[in-house]
Amino acid sequence: MKKIEKTEEEWRKELLPHVYHVMREKGTEQPFSGRYYHHKEKGVYHCAACGNPLFSSGTKFDSGSGWPSFSAPVETENIETEPDHSHGMVRIEVHCSWCGGHLGHVFDDGPPPTGQRYCINSLSLKFEKEE
Ligand code: FE
Repeated sequence: MKKIEKTEEEWRKELLPHVYHVMREKGTEQPFSGRYYHHKEKGVYHCAACGNPLFSSGTKFDSGSGWPSFSAPVETENIETEPDHSHGMVRIEVHCSWCGGHLGHVFDDGPPPTGQRYCINSLSLKFEKEE
């Protein structure tokens, strides 16, 4: 697995401020604000920080949550999860396995067959259209 090690200073220089806030400080974009929420083209959503292929358009669904939602990652090893106890909630945080960048959270109220709902910030993603 490709591991990308950069200092916070390097990430701060490389990423736009609002992307840095979400990906390195675990921020959350405003619901319904992200550029990929209603996005329906065929292709792959990559990590905005390192290019790791994370989610395919084939697993994207309309969750009504205000954030792009997927039922599965491209490959399970491309993402990592860990418990998140912030904001008085118990949630499962999702991050990129290559660079550690924060992506969003995963919930178990998604559609079949996985039953998973990966609730992901548009700011953490970079879409590449399938030719
Ligand atoms: Fe990444």
